Amino acid sequence: MNELRDLYQEAILDHYKHPRNFGVGPGRSANGANPLCGDSLSVYADVQNGVICDIHFVGQGCAISTASASLMTEAVKGKSVGEAHTLFHKFHRLLTSDSPAGELGKLEVFGGVREFPSRVKCATLAWHTLEAALTGTSEAVTTE
Ligand code: ZN
Repeated sequence: MNELRDLYQEAILDHYKHPRNFGVGPGRSANGANPLCGDSLSVYADVQNGVICDIHFVGQGCAISTASASLMTEAVKGKSVGEAHTLFHKFHRLLTSDSPAGELGKLEVFGGVREFPSRVKCATLAWHTLEAALTGTSEAVTTE
């Protein structure tokens, strides 16, 4: 089990050091902040015909928040807005509930966050910000 945990941490560190889809992009955008930890990021989602064709993010924060944003962009690119919502609900369940969350692919590396409730906000910040971008909320998202 410890080995598995190390493997998961490796994936998180890799995405923290080399975030994917990092940069300002086209489309709808929103800003999010998690004052408890000092994480802040902006998400840019290019939605065409209800599909997230392209997605980018910029910002700075802890390893969990940055890796989560990076993995999120990979997970939702090419998915419909509805599929992205569903994925967010599953992801949230993975972080907060002991019951099976369902198939989450690479996002399952965040399963260990469940043991650290204060870090759940770090892991979900990018997702809340994506939701805001998709629904066109112009106000900045905060986890508080
Ligand atoms: Zn954080």
